[in-house]
Amino acid sequence: MTDAHRFTGGRVFTGHRFVDALLIENGRVVAVGSEEEVARAAPVGCEVENLAGGLVIPGLVDAHLHIAETTRAEHGMPVDGLASHHELVERLRRWAEVHPSGPIVGRGWSVEEFVERQEPTRQVLEAAVSDRPVILYHVSGHAAVVNGPALAAAGYTDRSPDPPGGRLGRGPDGSPNGLVYERALDPIARFSSGAFPSDRDQLGRTLQSMAAFGITSVGTLSTDPEELEVLTSLGISGDLPVRIRAYVRFSRLALVDVRRPLEEETNDLLVVRGTKQYTDGAFGPHTAWLTDPYADRPDTSGDSTASGKEIAQAVRTTLDLGLVPALHAIGDRAVGVAVRALDGIEPAPGAARIEHASLVPPALYPLLDRVRPTLVVQPGFVWSDGWLGERLGPDRARHAYPFRTLLERGHALVGSSDSPFDVLDPWRGLAAAVHRTDPGGRSANPDPTENLTPEQAFQLYTANAGPGLGEADLGSLELGSRADLVVLKAPDLPRAIGWGSSCVRSTWMGGARTFLRA
Ligand SMILES: [Zn+2]
Repeated sequence: MTDAHRFTGGRVFTGHRFVDALLIENGRVVAVGSEEEVARAAPVGCEVENLAGGLVIPGLVDAHLHIAETTRAEHGMPVDGLASHHELVERLRRWAEVHPSGPIVGRGWSVEEFVERQEPTRQVLEAAVSDRPVILYHVSGHAAVVNGPALAAAGYTDRSPDPPGGRLGRGPDGSPNGLVYERALDPIARFSSGAFPSDRDQLGRTLQSMAAFGITSVGTLSTDPEELEVLTSLGISGDLPVRIRAYVRFSRLALVDVRRPLEEETNDLLVVRGTKQYTDGAFGPHTAWLTDPYADRPDTSGDSTASGKEIAQAVRTTLDLGLVPALHAIGDRAVGVAVRALDGIEPAPGAARIEHASLVPPALYPLLDRVRPTLVVQPGFVWSDGWLGERLGPDRARHAYPFRTLLERGHALVGSSDSPFDVLDPWRGLAAAVHRTDPGGRSANPDPTENLTPEQAFQLYTANAGPGLGEADLGSLELGSRADLVVLKAPDLPRAIGWGSSCVRSTWMGGARTFLRA
């Protein structure tokens, strides 16, 4: 019995070109071209899918997100959309009443939203809850405000020094004020992730919501062994609606059996592809590592979160295991350090990755042009970081998220969301790559010369992204490609971006439907 589907009556964007029709059989593309060519190739019993003037595109790839964190964010306390510290206290009080036991974990605040224009401290949280741990992560995930019980549970006292690669905020007397940055978060993360064990059903629902956006493959970064275990069990039972390529948190790599043939056990749904190592923080909490100080905080240039020796060792160990190193680098200083650490690796798509590469001034071009790592960027940040001009000053912000410049220099640019640290919806990222300024007029760097065409924007999430995960047969609909695709109501790419995720009619992975709009 053959399982074949012929897509006809619309257009097909293969990731590289436009054609009229497509034939998939047993999970692969077997014909692509004119209506006649494809009809001639169709076997007896082939099902016909009428596009009704719509468009088929390759399944969308989100090459950098965090599956377990996204699931936890859906079940924790929402801390976004708060106008003041007072509103934070009120919301925390109400949440504590409805969730009367265990640690309270939330995510999503940013200083820019508060009228105080100041980080909340432990005293703010303790006005609502002082008898059990409260951990509220900054929207970037690179900082948190916690209360006294959380500091104590993490082993911090009034006299604790800053740990390597991390920092504790301090009050006037030098004791921790509840703000925790970068690697000082490690002991907090260890017990806060226990507050939401990675539940099989919850993870499954998160993945199903990705299929509804037209996503067929994801790279999940900083994967922990517990998360990998749940994903493996879902993969073996055939319950993964998207392909998952995991990049394990380097510090916990020893706990993962990287030689296990997951690819075979899960029918190619789950693969451990690489490791993830941090080199700096994020712009929001001023921890992205810059060459020159922040414009709005001249006392700091951000943080280096790993020594050169640690980074070099992570890269070497990863390569020795036949895996791909993925280095987190946001500030220009960190990008330079990370790219240098990847120098010497064959510049093949997906062979070595820089995650974010957010600030790329021209001084970095010669190095980048020589080493040519895969650059995994987040177009949605251009909309979300509307305050970046203040952080960096306008001259420097001009070199933030320079997508067009990087593409024109021939760099392998791959799109992603970084969910839950930004919105999961890839259609928002596509729109941000094309327009750069959000509907409210905000942008991290509105320079229109960095706008991508709709075709380039889709390539970030399709034809560039499959190879970015190390797989040439993912992300496009050419002969022999995997039959991962999305059927859109929209007739062309510009209108698809204008309509957003509502234009997804159905999503297919490996030739089988994973989502159908009711
Ligand atoms: Zn991330």
